[in-house]
This record gives sequence, structure tokens and C-alpha cells, in this order.
Amino acid sequence: MTTATTIIRCPNCGHKNRVPVSARGRPRCGNCHKALPWIVNALDDSFAEIAENADPPVIVDMWATWCAPCRMVSPVLEQLATERAGDVKLVKVDVDRAPRLSSRFSVQAVPTLMVMHHGKVISRQAGAAPVEVLRRWFDDAMAKDARDEATADSGADKGRGSA
Ligand SMILES: [Zn+2]
Repeated sequence: MTTATTIIRCPNCGHKNRVPVSARGRPRCGNCHKALPWIVNALDDSFAEIAENADPPVIVDMWATWCAPCRMVSPVLEQLATERAGDVKLVKVDVDRAPRLSSRFSVQAVPTLMVMHHGKVISRQAGAAPVEVLRRWFDDAMAKDARDEATADSGADKGRGSA
């Protein structure tokens, strides 16, 4: 368990919050108690704990320092994380410092964006896109995730007793 923290400024009241990079639940502002945008960096060794074990859905931004489209998409993703505060965690991965993740997710181009929930990749997209496209992409992935979980639940009911 890492005890690393990051400072997140509350978009509602401006209060600076020290927030753990991985924790149960979803962070709220210590001052006004609104949900905070949760934006965290992860690398090979911390990805499982920060992204795969996260409670809210995760947008993974696989980016590189030398990539101009990454610099364009980064504020767009931060805007989304702010709009959907409490419902998403944004995890940024510098691919040059995370060779195992790059190979595991077969990242051929940057930025590569993924929606993950409870360790499962629900949707991925390569390349930058405007906020309205990425907002719809994320919301579509969430709708698909809800359908998949409903299907998994009914499947579990049928299989009850076999475990
Ligand atoms: Zn606040």
C-alpha cells in the first residue's frame, strides 16, 4: 500500500486538498465537501493499486513528453475529470517511463486513452479528440459497463450454489 499523496485544488472553493493517490472510495474537499477531480500519475509498479483497484471508473491517459497531441488532450481530460468529479479517476501514464504497461496494453501511438473499471478495459481510443467527443466516448463506455455488470449479475444468479 503506498501512502503517496497529491495536492488537488478544489474547483468549487479553491481549497488545496492533500489526497491519497490510491484509497477506498472517492475524495471530497475537506472544506466544502464537494467531490474532487481525482488526477493521479501512475507507472508500472503503481498502476495496479492506483488504476485497477480504484473504486470509480478510470480514464487512463497513456502519454509521452514529446507528443504534441498529448499536450492538447491533457487539459481536455482534466476538464472531463472535473465535470465528472466523483464519477471518474484520471490516471496519467508516461509511456517512456512505463515500458511494461506500454507492452501490456500494446500502445502503438500516443495518446492512447482507455476507460477501465475494476481492472477491466471497457473502451480505448487512440489520438486526441475534442472534449465533446471524449465526453460522449466516456459516457458510452459507462453505459456499456453498466450493461455488462447487469449481465454479469444475472449470470451469477443462474450459477448460484456452484461456487
Ligand atoms: Zn471545496
